[in-house]
Amino acid sequence: MIISGFDLSNSVEKSISAAMHSKRFPHAVIIEGGKAEERMALAKKIAAALVCSSGGIVPCGVCSACRKAAADSHADILLYSVEDKPKAFKVDIVREIRNKAYIVPNEADRKVFILENSHTMGNEGQNAILKILEEPPAYVSFILLCSTKSGFLPTVLSRSTVYNLGQASASEDEAMPRESIVEAARGVALAAAALDDIEIVKAAAVFEKNQKLLRAALPVIQEIFALALRIKYSAEEENDELGFVAAEIAPKLSRRALLSLIESTDTLINSIKLNANHNLTVTALCTKLRKAVTD
Ligand SMILES: [Zn+2]
Repeated sequence: MIISGFDLSNSVEKSISAAMHSKRFPHAVIIEGGKAEERMALAKKIAAALVCSSGGIVPCGVCSACRKAAADSHADILLYSVEDKPKAFKVDIVREIRNKAYIVPNEADRKVFILENSHTMGNEGQNAILKILEEPPAYVSFILLCSTKSGFLPTVLSRSTVYNLGQASASEDEAMPRESIVEAARGVALAAAALDDIEIVKAAAVFEKNQKLLRAALPVIQEIFALALRIKYSAEEENDELGFVAAEIAPKLSRRALLSLIESTDTLINSIKLNANHNLTVTALCTKLRKAVTD
């Protein structure tokens, strides 16, 4: 079998091609960094090579499997794509993937799962996928795509081979480190809960001249308020970074205040989508938070 179509001048593609050639291609790989489109293109190339039925030059590009792979219609290439936002990769999706992984492939020798934005899986989702990464059926391959592997549990990382496409870059917010986004969101949520005008203005200061950070942080701020509201209703325990912040602010705010905070962040998220003036949006963030908690 000869592996074709990979760019051998690129170290990542070269090592993927070599692993496939020696039939040592791992059951689970994480492709991080680079642009989202690059990660997806590489994943599709790997998937096509894994399902190609030619047995000679692979992927051959002409067999029925290759043609279906190119048309995104191969029954044994399962693509799961979610938005790049916290916890978008829900545990229910992971469970569905797990169930499907135990069903043998339809037509190819392999069954390939491509999970886009897999870094948005919470701990629960990661633990669910870990069960199958630990003992995958022989025919299964997982290709996890993410801007950065930093959100993965060490247990998941230890079961996967990581390929890094270089500094994550994207037109959207992917290049922004997750820690900076969470830190900014945390600051704002805590300041709002402290009912302190000055603290709110201070916390929001990180967004001045940083439109990208504000755009990335607002959904996270909203998520914290939503989690806090859930904690108030269900006394449910949260065990990730956002959950801890939510647990801290939940006792300080009424349900009504939290609902109002969720609505206010929603308004701001929408106004950013409509390209509202950035400085005015930062000011609006401060006044809206203050109003939501005091009204
Ligand atoms: Zn083929």
